[in-house]
Amino acid sequence: MRDWMAEEPVIIDRGQGARLWDTKSREYLDANASIWTNIHGHNHPRINAAIRAQLEKVAHSSFLGLSNVPAIELSEKLIKIAPRGLSRVFYSDNGSTAVEVAIKMALHYWIHLGEPKRRRFVAFTGAYHGDTIGAVSVGGIDLFHAAYKPLLFEVERVADLKELHQTMRQKGREVAAVIIEPLIQGSAGMKIWPKGLLEQVSRQCDEHETLLIADEVMTGFGRTGTMFACEQEGVIPDFLCLAKGLTGGYLPLAATLTRERVFTAFLGYYEDQKTFFHGHSYTGNPLGCAAALASLAIFEEEGTLVHLQPKIALLRDELQAFCKLKSVVEVRQCGFIGAVEVGPYRWEYKAGIRVCQRARELGVLTRPIGNVIVIMPPLCVTADELRRICEVLRQAVEEVLG
Ligand SMILES: *Cc1c(COP(=O)(O)O)cnc(C)c1O
Repeated sequence: MRDWMAEEPVIIDRGQGARLWDTKSREYLDANASIWTNIHGHNHPRINAAIRAQLEKVAHSSFLGLSNVPAIELSEKLIKIAPRGLSRVFYSDNGSTAVEVAIKMALHYWIHLGEPKRRRFVAFTGAYHGDTIGAVSVGGIDLFHAAYKPLLFEVERVADLKELHQTMRQKGREVAAVIIEPLIQGSAGMKIWPKGLLEQVSRQCDEHETLLIADEVMTGFGRTGTMFACEQEGVIPDFLCLAKGLTGGYLPLAATLTRERVFTAFLGYYEDQKTFFHGHSYTGNPLGCAAALASLAIFEEEGTLVHLQPKIALLRDELQAFCKLKSVVEVRQCGFIGAVEVGPYRWEYKAGIRVCQRARELGVLTRPIGNVIVIMPPLCVTADELRRICEVLRQAVEEVLG
């Protein structure tokens, strides 16, 4: 905050496509899709119109014991595009709550099934699942999470498949669920899992008859090249957590998808008290659902995933050009997520921060994760804009780090 106050702040005023303008009319390319949320661009006429049309009807009404049309239509749509077998949708407001819901539901599911001993959660080193206490408990990034340790529940932490096997062999029968970010860990610094790991994790869950939570808050909605990352390894999780890109990056809305058997476990008579006690005031918000429906319609109308493939190839070429720079140690790519790691530099050197500050002066906005520069513009970014983003970032790396 002190650093932020010391420099001139950028106050965003408006946007169009992959571009943003600040209150001083300076133009920027949005190279991290407004923290990994934006899909079809800012100010998209289709999404704007959908929100306006809904606004003329009603902005919000309670979802507790009631429903609304956009929420119903959206859940039908989500079930259609999600991995087959996910048949039920639970709404909340953000990625962290989507994860909280999955965790609570998994634990409660086993209680309903008469297996209360299944209460352990297995999570990976370097995981990031959000900033609320349950999500922080399964999170594994010390810088973000260590201070809150007294507030967190205990988790079985594993680094890789070998450790997962070991933990499952010893404690498999006490595991309520395994949680993973499919294909790539985002906030850990865009760390890509070995090919096939996700499928193996899913197999382990099957073998030990436990549940799999796929946190696709970052990877969902085309970011990895397919609608959902799980598709790439043919995995059907028991919970699919969605948020960031759900509304195309417009409004805070999240969904936790699950299977019929989880729904059924909670289905009882009033006296049975099987209720899943989790309901946020803004659950199923109609404006958010209308935006999400429009975003999913655009995927079809504009052929978003088809047009994305050549851009993924272009990103690959552009990333290669970073390798020539002395300060670059590695480039990584997962679909339309690009990462450039510089270093090694001590964190105090603020290498990533300084590179991004220089890029901002040159008209490109992104946010580093330590020494990792993140490149993940809206999926609608044009080839020229993507080239420009990479060109500016290369210049910034070179000027700041040599
Ligand atoms: C961003 C993120 C979250 C948290 O989402 P919020 O909407 O910021 O609460 C959870 N999991 C993953 C993988 C994320 O990238």
